[in-house]
Amino acid sequence: MPIPLETTGPTMKDYWSPVMCTWCDGCGDYGILTAVKQALVELKIAPWQTLLCYDVGCHGNGSDKLSGYRFHGLHGRVIPFAAGVKMANPTLPVIAFGGDGATFSEGVGHIVHAVRSHYPMVFVLHNNANYGLTTGQASSLTPQNQPMNSAPNGMPEATINSMDFIFSLEPTFVARGFSGDIKHMTYILKEAIKHRGFAFVDMLQACPTYNKFATHKMLLEKCYRVEDEKYDPSDPVKARKLAMDTEKRIATGILFRREDIPNFNERLVPRQGKKTRPVDEVEKFDVSEMMKEFR
Ligand code: SF4
Repeated sequence: MPIPLETTGPTMKDYWSPVMCTWCDGCGDYGILTAVKQALVELKIAPWQTLLCYDVGCHGNGSDKLSGYRFHGLHGRVIPFAAGVKMANPTLPVIAFGGDGATFSEGVGHIVHAVRSHYPMVFVLHNNANYGLTTGQASSLTPQNQPMNSAPNGMPEATINSMDFIFSLEPTFVARGFSGDIKHMTYILKEAIKHRGFAFVDMLQACPTYNKFATHKMLLEKCYRVEDEKYDPSDPVKARKLAMDTEKRIATGILFRREDIPNFNERLVPRQGKKTRPVDEVEKFDVSEMMKEFR
């Protein structure tokens, strides 16, 4: 689906917001927010030409730290809203953001159906392996036995291997970034926005306040860019193995991509051959009588 372009293009200033950031010093949210704005600017997408949807969490408090159309929804429910908007207005680039807690606990059903439905949107996972907003609560991506504020004797439950989980759903775009590498995250996000279907982007994010086991320093030392090693992202078996193997090194970049699968909107038989968008068509209907019921 073509992305609307401006002739001159927006600048970073166009995304400026007067609302001050309240994240802790050293939080990875700063880097991810900058990369999102940079990617949109480089793709010449102005704030009024996109919709950014935020789940609840520390990252969600960034929803008013940039200008443009934004939605801040219920915990774990950002994907259904974003997918609905994309269905109503297929020409609008839509990016949804969720934390590891919301995405792999409260909203785990939504990520399953987003990948299998192949909604044409980007999903950015703010992955700091804990619930930062609720002061260091263990999430389903926190390592098992790791002591956290909600589990001082160590998290008793098994950890979900998020990449193994995502690859089991047969995705068409999987990438991983690191909040300390803004330039690389910008590249990844641009490729994700251009993807035909559902793009899953795992952003490994430092949370210096509550995550003492995957620190910025540790991520800096272990993360490398697959693009520097002439990696071919077309093989799902190799990609899955690489994504899961984080013991010594952590692969970042476009880990898997295929563009030959029609997305959800392209598969909708009643929409085939239509020149208009559902959001245009609904304006033809007079709903004033129906709305009287709500007065
Ligand atoms: Fe960032 Fe963690 Fe602080 Fe939340 S608690 S703002 S994720 S550093």
